[in-house]
Amino acid sequence: MINIVLFGKPGAGKGTQAEFLKEKYKLTHISTGDVFRFNLKNDTELGKQARVYMDAGDLVPDELTTKMLIDEVNKHPDTNGVLFDGYPRTLSQAEALDVFLESIGSKVAATVALEADDEILIQRLLERGKTSGRVDDQDEEKIRNRYQEYNEKTAPLMDFYKNQDKFFIVDGIGSIAEITERVSAVIDNL
Ligand code: AMP
Repeated sequence: MINIVLFGKPGAGKGTQAEFLKEKYKLTHISTGDVFRFNLKNDTELGKQARVYMDAGDLVPDELTTKMLIDEVNKHPDTNGVLFDGYPRTLSQAEALDVFLESIGSKVAATVALEADDEILIQRLLERGKTSGRVDDQDEEKIRNRYQEYNEKTAPLMDFYKNQDKFFIVDGIGSIAEITERVSAVIDNL
């Protein structure tokens, strides 16, 4: 399995890139945000538990998120590899991911970070909020809270992966195709 973690702030383009990369490398794309939104829409027990956090732009608690993630991966036992989009977002999630992958004889191959300036990303999210219907994209205060969550809880993961020589930074500003090329260059070099 080639497991790739797509890393980046909200709005950095992880989901967009994942759509192209999953085809190119025949990977299973798992977006924890998408899985949560599916559960919200269908008003499942998980959705009920996650809603208050998501609507406020807070991270959903680790235990709930990790359990969901593992269930998702287990739905694809024959996959070539997983493209993780939006997971892990905390150190505890990163550790849980390593333990889980090891239990199935696998590991994270690389973490690819899409980098872009905060102010550009915030404008992008507000624009997306006009059509996405996402409550968390429509309010600048909630967006800023998501950035704060990122800075406090997710940014420390960079060191976690750098220490394992698995952290690669890609310039996230450019056309979609250009950025796919940049990410592909990293994957092809693994
Ligand atoms: P996203 O679509 O990745 O921006 O995620 C939307 C929201 O889902 C986040 O603001 C969190 O509330 C929740 N979420 C998604 N992934 C995670 C995660 N790995 N850990 C905790 N919360 C998450």
